[in-house]
Amino acid sequence: MTLWQNYLQPKTLSEAMDALANAPRPIIPIAGGTDLLLDLEQGRHSPVQTLLDVNSIEEMTRLEITGDELFIGASVPVNRIATSPEVAHHAQALTEACDLIAGPQVRNVATLGGNVAHALPAADGTIALLALDAQAEVASLSGTRRIPFQELFLGPGKSSLKHGEELIVGFHLPLTNSHQASCFKRIMRPQGVALPILNCAVWLERENDIIKDIRIAIGPGGGTPFRATQAEDVLRGKSLHEATFESAFEALLAQAQFRTSARRASADYRQHIVSGLFKDTLENTWQRVI
Ligand SMILES: Cc1cc2nc3c(=O)[nH]c(=O)nc-3n(C[C@H](O)[C@H](O)[C@H](O)COP(=O)(O)OP(=O)(O)OC[C@H]3O[C@@H](n4cnc5c(N)ncnc54)[C@H](O)[C@@H]3O)c2cc1C
Repeated sequence: MTLWQNYLQPKTLSEAMDALANAPRPIIPIAGGTDLLLDLEQGRHSPVQTLLDVNSIEEMTRLEITGDELFIGASVPVNRIATSPEVAHHAQALTEACDLIAGPQVRNVATLGGNVAHALPAADGTIALLALDAQAEVASLSGTRRIPFQELFLGPGKSSLKHGEELIVGFHLPLTNSHQASCFKRIMRPQGVALPILNCAVWLERENDIIKDIRIAIGPGGGTPFRATQAEDVLRGKSLHEATFESAFEALLAQAQFRTSARRASADYRQHIVSGLFKDTLENTWQRVI
């Protein structure tokens, strides 16, 4: 069976929008194809008329600092992100997440936009972006707009993007100053299938011995990428002592909804191992701040 009829490779966002408006439907974007081609071949995605290759769209391949933000285009492959000095400086959690995704061959083609648009609650790049307070730039026929990162997700594998009408252009991240740091860690089966058993990203701002501000993301901690906002509330304004950690961890457990996934881990197992992962990631982030 033919899985698609037309393959389009626009060079600009306006050409891509033109294709979304006029090419035979159904139409779907393809970036690295590391998720989508398997889904098409294995029948998890119905055949389409048109694949819209977003890899050559100039606006979506930029990785640059503009003003007080870091912009990472949706079509930037994760190996370029993992080796970027700008990302290492301003978004270390994202460097660490991208460096752990799959193996070198997949990292050469897999993109951050594809990682996010697939809307899986434990995708490594997604969890790092959530802790880093990213905003997504989304393009449609009526123009581009920025949306808070969490608004991209409706449920496991379901993004809020209008199918065949919208593209993620890229992600805007605030720059990091010397009182701020981030860290990403994960627990993975040896020879594991694609996604981790559990991952965690933390960003924090430190004022002497106090956590001035903090963001914590855990995957999978629910049906959509999960921010542990109640644990953040416990930690904000406090020093990092054992008792504070215990209270924050209780708040995290009360808010998270761990899931059982057939090929990775049970909800009970995730609940059992999350303490060590959370503590390790939090302490590493804390120690990174001068
Ligand atoms: C062997 C293997 C190991 C893997 N290991 C990991 C891992 O360790 N961690 C992890 O998180 N993931 C892993 N993955 C999953 C996958 O590689 C990543 O999620 C990758 O980042 C997907 O990006 P892509 O460019 O290949 O997306 P594609 O497969 O091209 O697209 C995925 C989805 O996103 C949509 N899409 C793509 N770009 C856009 C855009 N700009 N705007 C709107 N929609 C868009 C597509 O239509 C499709 O629905 C693994 C996959 C494989 C095959």
